[in-house]
Amino acid sequence: MSKFTYAEMPNKDGFFGEFGGQIIPPELKQIMDEINDAYEEIRQKPEFQAELDLLFADYVGRPSPIYHAKRLSEKLGGAQIYLKREDLNHTGAHKINHCLGEALLAKFMGKTKVIAETGAGQHGVALATACALVGIPCEIHMGQVDIEKEHPNVTKMKILGCKLVSVTRGTATLKDAVDSAFEEYLKDPVNFIYAIGSVVGPHPFPKMVRDFQSIIGTEAREQFQAKTNHLPDYVTACVGGGSNAIGMFSAFLNDDNVNFVGVEPAGKGLDTQEHSATLTLGKPSTLHGMKCYVLETEEGEPMPVHSIASGLDYPGVGPQHSYLKDLGRVQYESASDQECLDAFMELSRIEGIIPALESAHAVAWAMRKAPTLSKDQTILVNLSGRGDKDADYVAEKLGL
Ligand SMILES: *Cc1c(COP(=O)(O)O)cnc(C)c1O
Repeated sequence: MSKFTYAEMPNKDGFFGEFGGQIIPPELKQIMDEINDAYEEIRQKPEFQAELDLLFADYVGRPSPIYHAKRLSEKLGGAQIYLKREDLNHTGAHKINHCLGEALLAKFMGKTKVIAETGAGQHGVALATACALVGIPCEIHMGQVDIEKEHPNVTKMKILGCKLVSVTRGTATLKDAVDSAFEEYLKDPVNFIYAIGSVVGPHPFPKMVRDFQSIIGTEAREQFQAKTNHLPDYVTACVGGGSNAIGMFSAFLNDDNVNFVGVEPAGKGLDTQEHSATLTLGKPSTLHGMKCYVLETEEGEPMPVHSIASGLDYPGVGPQHSYLKDLGRVQYESASDQECLDAFMELSRIEGIIPALESAHAVAWAMRKAPTLSKDQTILVNLSGRGDKDADYVAEKLGL
């Protein structure tokens, strides 16, 4: 019998164990299958891989380095902490990795428009960037409330030339933007493509986005071994939808001695209604075309979720994470808004690295764990993005 390997997930119908799939109307299923076929076709093409590799190198600035956070490790007095610096990518986070892949796929399929929603604007900026580069029209739907809050990202999207649609219905936030973008997509799904911003949604998106993000782990595994002659004892990343985490974890899943921790936002506390700890407190259900863990109200509606990091507040989570949780291969823990703020300031002041509030959740977990480990043990943290976007907010919150 051949050894079970994680790279073979999902199966051909898009299932990771019982999770994932395509919970969508038959017309859309056909379109998703076409996207899957096109993806499977181009991923085999050496020209496509060469184009993506070249863009990763010369445009994104890959490989992103691994940095040994010596001062932080020394101060904590336990395990050595290493950071995978996705914050140094062009546009400031890991999202550009899959946006480039999606934009190239859209072009290959002859799509006439790329559509997406954005909450805080991170996915919107990365996608608008990739579409400008590839030369394909891009339309981003964003809640009016978020547009007012997220000025720098809104300005960037405009400069990058995407069409920004302001959504005023409902609460004028992320969920309404999703509905609005999806309606636009349904007007012509044959010619349009909906570019999902994480490892969520119907098959093939959880697989495709994971594959584009797996460059993080592939690089990190090699770099870490070259630096230390070992594999890390722990690998950790924050989990919203789960794309930066799965991109990091996937290269190590068959290394039996590596432990994984996905860090969810505990917000104002797991005992309050204001958190977004889907795998910690949710249960298997369906959302946005897939089966996954979901935080639901008693009526079976997705819960309104909260995190200080807007990139993490999603009531569902990727199907592969849902499966890895049930298998026990990855532990999912959480960090509160306050722990996140503390980690944000600590990393800034002791290493001179201002992390994204999302990424600061993973740093917070590493800071909690390191003192319980010995000095020759290691924790590799995926620093998914930089904190420029959060600097004003944090300064105001802390009265700096
Ligand atoms: C969007 C975002 C996340 C959350 O998304 P995942 O799909 O869970 O990775 C994390 N970090 C940063 C910096 C982000 O912009």
